[in-house]
Amino acid sequence: MARAGVTAVSAPVIESELSQPELLKITPFLGSRDTAEGARLILFGCPFDGTCSFRPGTRFGPPEIRAVSDVLETFCPILRRDLEDAQFADVGDLALPPGDAAAALRLIYQMANHVHASGQITAGLGGEHLISLPLVKAAWEAYPDLVIVHFDAHFDLRNNYLGVEYSHATVMGKICEFIESSRVLQVGQRSGTREEFERAELSGNWRPATISASDIRQWVGNRQLYVTVDLDVLDPSVFPGTGTPEPGGIDFATLQQWIAGLAGCRWVGWDVVELSPHIDATQISSIVSAKIVRTMILASTVGGLQ
Ligand code: MN
Ligand code: MN
Repeated sequence: MARAGVTAVSAPVIESELSQPELLKITPFLGSRDTAEGARLILFGCPFDGTCSFRPGTRFGPPEIRAVSDVLETFCPILRRDLEDAQFADVGDLALPPGDAAAALRLIYQMANHVHASGQITAGLGGEHLISLPLVKAAWEAYPDLVIVHFDAHFDLRNNYLGVEYSHATVMGKICEFIESSRVLQVGQRSGTREEFERAELSGNWRPATISASDIRQWVGNRQLYVTVDLDVLDPSVFPGTGTPEPGGIDFATLQQWIAGLAGCRWVGWDVVELSPHIDATQISSIVSAKIVRTMILASTVGGLQ
């Protein structure tokens, strides 16, 4: 089933696949416009957690992030920007069939192609990290000069996880099958197998959490940018609500500065993944996620067209 999923995302795009797949209507994220038409960025939920290796529940992430977004201000003092100026539209959650990874990946890919066909930025709310595979694939096909910044506690470079080839633990390895690894900057990783550390060291594109926002910005340069944020890059004391918490992580301000530092780059897509809201009854993890999403919306919509 998993192999069929990636066959589906690897197949050439035909016209009918550019149509928008079915979306479930929701109460949108704070500051969203009413319609997708004319928006610079299209936000959509990808409520999929079919391959979570330890504690599932990330499929409940998108509605939870939107629900708590109401407690935030629309204004971000770091970026000096307001969500109401960001021209983004939250169009709902993709209707993904439970238990069918191939179909879920195909629908996410179709949605991303639909958004790129109108020159808009894709913004996927996870869900687990495997949703990045079809999102990045679509971005790479639309923007050949693409580079990827990957914030995560984990490399996600395994060849397989418990015999499964397509999983949130293998997603970056799968992405590196179609994008040269020199185009992927991995930031904040602190846990993995010996093979993953050796592979990351060989690629020369792994940066510890001490990297500055300006160094990340410099690496991206003028290239088209996709950013994937696995929220477990944060320390579990800041963000306990995730399936695979990893002690020794960064604080909230650091992640916010890394993202804000990319404002003005040529963003074409991003995702925020791995919130599992039921694990954190205080809802602090959900609020952290919503605030990171706010920063992503504001940072990615600064400036002119791609
Ligand atoms: Mn992770
Ligand atoms: Mn990950």
